[in-house]
Amino acid sequence: RTTPTAYRRVLLKLSGEAFGGGKVGVAPDVVRGIAEQIATAVNSGVEVAIVVGGGNFFRGKQLQEQGMDRTRADYMGMLGTVMNCLALQDFLEEAGIDTRVQTAITMGQVAEAYIPRRAIRHLEKGRVVIFGAGAGMPFFSTDTVSAQRALEIKCDIVLMSKHGVDGVYNSDPRRNPDATKLDQVTYEQALQQDLKVVDAAAFSLCRENGLPMLVFGMDGERNITRALLGEPLGTLVTS
Ligand code: UDP
Repeated sequence: RTTPTAYRRVLLKLSGEAFGGGKVGVAPDVVRGIAEQIATAVNSGVEVAIVVGGGNFFRGKQLQEQGMDRTRADYMGMLGTVMNCLALQDFLEEAGIDTRVQTAITMGQVAEAYIPRRAIRHLEKGRVVIFGAGAGMPFFSTDTVSAQRALEIKCDIVLMSKHGVDGVYNSDPRRNPDATKLDQVTYEQALQQDLKVVDAAAFSLCRENGLPMLVFGMDGERNITRALLGEPLGTLVTS
């Protein structure tokens, strides 16, 4: 398979669920470990932008199922992602990395607003930019936002880390014990076979714009560093 190596600039999506270490809230040791892995890659020269999820706090759809208004619940979900951004910022700075948080919902006391050209400048200066509050719009997911941000700030690839799965399988590995992991897959196959590990909207956006995606498991000891440095792991998804 042809894994693109030595990226110049990447977009890393981190699932919020991982930040909680299996619980609601933030598990500082887990976030510190993730930050240290990112720092290793940044120190070797790759420009890193990050989108953080919020599943460890709230998922709009789940709150809706329990009777809440969907859009208000989605805003709660987006606010949850910002708490994760601040936690990650803290541990990245502890690891000696300069960072900026930019949010899609403005909150001037805690973060910059999302300004794409400014984000690019930060990256060029070696700062890690962490994007919070998703797209700022209900009914979107942080997977989709990752693809959008990667396109807008001109990343070479979107690296979708997943918690509990290590790539794209030919069917759901949690239900089908015979499911096999794919090294490489096209967006078309992933969409046609409804391989749900990443949102269909994120797959479509990448496909239409020729942006490659790596889906990988973040649970291994060095997996995040390896993905950021272009080492082969997970599943590469291409047009
Ligand atoms: N969300 C949203 N719009 C966005 C991004 C996120 O409404 O652009 C909300 C949505 O309710 C979602 C929650 O924020 O469930 C947390 O994000 P996500 O589920 O993508 O986090 P992850 O699963 O990656 O932890």
